[in-house]
Amino acid sequence: MAFHHIVGQKRAIHVLQKGLASSRLAQAYLFHGPSSTGKKLTALQFAQALHCPAATTDACETCVPCRKIAAGNHPDVIQIGVEGSSIGIEHIRTLQHRLSYKPYEHQRITIIIDGCEFLTPPAANALLKTLEEPPPYALLLLLTGNKAALPLTLISRCQLVPFRTLTPAHIHTILTQQGVDEDTASLAATLSGGRLEAFDQGDFVQALTTRDKAHTILADIIQAKATAVFLQARTLAGKREQCEALLRWLALLCRDLVMLKITPDRLLYNQDLHQELAPLARHLSVDNLLEAFGCIEQQRGYLGMNLNPQLVFERLLVQLQHLLRESKA
Ligand SMILES: [Zn+2]
Repeated sequence: MAFHHIVGQKRAIHVLQKGLASSRLAQAYLFHGPSSTGKKLTALQFAQALHCPAATTDACETCVPCRKIAAGNHPDVIQIGVEGSSIGIEHIRTLQHRLSYKPYEHQRITIIIDGCEFLTPPAANALLKTLEEPPPYALLLLLTGNKAALPLTLISRCQLVPFRTLTPAHIHTILTQQGVDEDTASLAATLSGGRLEAFDQGDFVQALTTRDKAHTILADIIQAKATAVFLQARTLAGKREQCEALLRWLALLCRDLVMLKITPDRLLYNQDLHQELAPLARHLSVDNLLEAFGCIEQQRGYLGMNLNPQLVFERLLVQLQHLLRESKA
């Protein structure tokens, strides 16, 4: 992976390559911007360019250090991430211990800390001490999706590297580079909202299958096909993750039905389903749709409280049938 493979982050890459070209690197960089926009990938790429003996401003991708970093087993490139729900002080102490020894293979040790907004206060304090007096061979890359959650003292010690939300066109480019077919790439780009979560093709195909099921359930509810609805519920809602995904799609579809009623330009999330959703929206009232949306959100909350997914889903279907059938003209 070289810098030119990274899509949509020209400004961030310009900052890093300028440092590499002039050999005037900061001792700490803070990569900040929305989640899933390529910060981790860029950090690993930067580490390769730093440790690759052939590199000036980009990695060769073929030498032993480049391959070790890509495989995650270079002894001078240390990665720390969130474990459970935070990054604790023990992780920072481990990295401080490692920094007390010189590099094994190269003149530098690169530390990548992903998810810095999840540093516990003692961990952030300990990290600040390292940032105040880093050994000369240390280079720290701090990654965060929420810069506002970091202490100012920590931010002020780093050179800032901003990451932007990706556009649908960027996502389309990345997906086609990965060999995804044109139609799937276009749809994924539209539905992704500028985030990379939908990038794995298998996940995306699964997500679309779940969306189709949610769409069928919603259409059956509106068209008063009660038996079909509950048969679907029995087969679909046994698993918590599947139930969560279904409720999320039901909420997004409900939101689109509201948009069809109230906006002339119809800013639909599921733009590709416009032809199918428009006739469903025609007979529904905005008030009932909003109430249905509220019910879905409420049941999603119950699911998060560990209630039985089957019961949560069936209760929601009863509520939706009551609201969306009743509001038919
Ligand atoms: Zn190399």
